[in-house]
Amino acid sequence: MSNNFMFNMRTVILSGEDSINDIPAQLAARGAHRVLLLSDIGLESVGLVNKLIGVFENNMQVELVGVYTDIKADASCDDINNAVQYANKVKADSIVALGGGSVIDASKGIKYSLEHKLDDIREAIRGGGRIDVGSHVKPFTIPHIGVPTTAGTGAEASPIAVFFNDVEQVKASLVVSGLECDLAVLDPKLTLGLPVPLTVSTAMDALTHAIEAASSPMSNAFTDAYAIQASRLILDNLPKVVANPNNIKARTELLQASTMAISAFYSSLGGIPIHNCAHAFGAIAHIPHGDANSVLLPVVIELCRNSICQVLISSLVFLSCLIRLLQRKSIVKLYCHYVLSKNK
Ligand SMILES: [Zn+2]
Repeated sequence: MSNNFMFNMRTVILSGEDSINDIPAQLAARGAHRVLLLSDIGLESVGLVNKLIGVFENNMQVELVGVYTDIKADASCDDINNAVQYANKVKADSIVALGGGSVIDASKGIKYSLEHKLDDIREAIRGGGRIDVGSHVKPFTIPHIGVPTTAGTGAEASPIAVFFNDVEQVKASLVVSGLECDLAVLDPKLTLGLPVPLTVSTAMDALTHAIEAASSPMSNAFTDAYAIQASRLILDNLPKVVANPNNIKARTELLQASTMAISAFYSSLGGIPIHNCAHAFGAIAHIPHGDANSVLLPVVIELCRNSICQVLISSLVFLSCLIRLLQRKSIVKLYCHYVLSKNK
């Protein structure tokens, strides 16, 4: 555990049923006038995009000037450049991103491009990516709200975005202070329709963020607090959501856990063996990120038990959570059950 660190949770959290109704007022309070809504066709087809469009009807504070839903899974640089072109065409001055990790990561690239007046995001991530963090970084001026529709990546609260650079044929990271959303709106009603296998897979990603944060040599008292609470919320609530996908309280707490887990994860980056293995296997086997983490979680903990347990032993609460997970394997069992049934 480190005593030399900077912990910055800049994203404001707005949690609760129907909290999306407050988005126009929140945008206006941040100086927005012309709003661009970013999402994907999957969320458009299930009606969530229209639900959010409805929030802007009859509001006198801001104008929704455009809706862009052509962002694909694992967004590419072209996806971002095309959205930037559209944002400039409709003269948007603010962004609302509705979606999972891909849409919210793409919204960060779009914000970066608009702020730096780039036509091609590849300029920013040439050579594999860009890291620009610290107090010297000029604050972003574009109001930016993230509305997650999954409880897993926590992309809304992290200053990290990953895009596929088709020219260099790599997934490149853009890591910039202030890239995270100004406000994360955690409305559990938007996650009620998320299929159970996807709910389990994404929650396991969040649990992995929490476990790797708590066991990182760069962890500190603040990241431990977020990681331990996130783990507790996931272990308590994931089985409840699996038993009853309409359990709104459990869905609410999974969303909170996801945002907390990523905050602990990115502020304690030092050793992330599960994610490193998951990225490598994911790239070879083309399996979803949450699925790769889930399979590797118990294996890597077993392989690294000396180093991981030495760190974890400092937190009895966390250790008891982990023991519950490993002994009963309840979450892993649930995961395996649903992945197997999904693949039948
Ligand atoms: Zn992850």
